Amino acid sequence: MSTSSDRPDLAGLERAELEALFRGAGIPVFHARQVFRWIHRRGVTDFDAMTDLSRDLRADLSTRFTIETPKLVGRDVSSDGTEKLLFELGDRRRIESVFIPDTPLRTFCISSQVGCAMDCAFCLTGRMGFVRNLTAAEIVAQVRVLAQQLHLLEDRFNIVLMGMGEPLHNYEAVMSALRILNDDHGLAIHPRRVTLSTVGLVPAIDRLAREPLMPNLAISLHATTDAQRGAIVPINRKYPLEELVAACKRVPLKRRNRITFEYVLLDGVNDTPADARRLVTLLADVKAKVNLIPLNAAPGIPFDRPSDERVNIFARILAEHGMTVSVRKSRGRDIRAACGQLIVEGQKKSTGQRAASLM
Ligand code: SAH
Repeated sequence: MSTSSDRPDLAGLERAELEALFRGAGIPVFHARQVFRWIHRRGVTDFDAMTDLSRDLRADLSTRFTIETPKLVGRDVSSDGTEKLLFELGDRRRIESVFIPDTPLRTFCISSQVGCAMDCAFCLTGRMGFVRNLTAAEIVAQVRVLAQQLHLLEDRFNIVLMGMGEPLHNYEAVMSALRILNDDHGLAIHPRRVTLSTVGLVPAIDRLAREPLMPNLAISLHATTDAQRGAIVPINRKYPLEELVAACKRVPLKRRNRITFEYVLLDGVNDTPADARRLVTLLADVKAKVNLIPLNAAPGIPFDRPSDERVNIFARILAEHGMTVSVRKSRGRDIRAACGQLIVEGQKKSTGQRAASLM
């Protein structure tokens, strides 16, 4: 009996890759399509349960291949209905994904890396440092398991790449996962239902702009001067604001579509009326909407959440200048599922490869 490690895992293969693998193994290619549908549309990962395949083929496939799924090891439900799922991966590393029931549509917030190298000053995940990239299989599996657990395989939902990690720092696996999720034989999730949030890796934004399957883009802006952004979002020292905004302008957008600019409000730091007015100027020529995120404070994070009044004043200045602005409701704070709170203890990498070493 072979162990799972010496059998290729089918869970992270795009349909074309699965077809090529079957072709090479002498298995009729239409079976690849059937297997893909079982995994990605129906959430079935046990060959024995793939009832439209012959008994012999099922037996043959299970000796040659495996279909791995990260283990669901925890599930917390917030008083506001938000749920946080904790997964254990094949190497025992852990990641979290979040289900938000009503924003207004159901939304899955998924992770792209274990930890994160970007080291933003207000984000707990950044404290972990970078541990490793997720594979396409691990990214897709979060969606599959969430949809199964919540009985949503047949329903519509949105996906936001706003969990742990910087998705554009794991470009290949993230795009491969999006192609699998988009496939008509899988969940057929349209790219307009997917939002990729990035700290602003300029070359990767340019690359993303050329993708046939381009998700909605959200940029974690958080400051309006290079001095301030460089202090709280270290990657700004490599890709300063002017370059970031220029890259955003190069992104081809469908009519009525806009780039979301996320702006975490830190009390007394970046939330003054002068900041708001600079933000208006900075985004003047960009098809933009602004999503204000009052800080989710946490022990060890050296900032405070501003008062609602400060948030409202900031939002009003943007609105008065004709900008589309929303304030993100903090969801799942009681289960530490809110933005920037995803961290799994005990797997910090002490030699953390952080943004500084990427510069
Ligand atoms: N790396 C990506 C996606 C992950 S975080 C990015 O930077 O965009 C998703 C959003 O949560 C980002 O806008 C991030 O800046 C924000 N965030 C991080 N920590 C936060 C905190 N403590 N409170 C509120 N938002 C936070």
